[in-house]
Amino acid sequence: MAETIFAKIIRREIPARIEHEDDECLAFHDVAPQAPTHILIIPKKPISSLADVTDADTPLLGHLIRVATEIATSLHLEEGYRLVVNCGDHGGQTVNHLHIHLLGGRPLSWPPG
Ligand code: AMP
Repeated sequence: MAETIFAKIIRREIPARIEHEDDECLAFHDVAPQAPTHILIIPKKPISSLADVTDADTPLLGHLIRVATEIATSLHLEEGYRLVVNCGDHGGQTVNHLHIHLLGGRPLSWPPG
């Protein structure tokens, strides 16, 4: 997998507003927020996209979602929030390091564009 800007954030080579870190993942605020709360939850393991996960990654994926829900609780998103994973060109993925968007703080329309 080619090096991405998110690998540099994990290594603290470029700055980010970090919300959570543990052995498996990092969560930080999106640099171009699309909602009052917009956080990215990424695995430290370099996985390019959802299309590249394997059975061995199943616990990691569960952990990423659990971290996202814990952050949503800690940031008081009681009125609701959305988790989004863009995958590939048609999915709108622009950074090829798997990430979950946590969006909240305003009503979110449906369907997406
Ligand atoms: P996606 O389009 O699903 O691949 O999402 C990539 C996200 O990464 C976008 O929402 C960008 O705004 C965000 N992003 C890109 N570079 C940075 C950065 N240096 N720090 C934080 N977020 C970033």
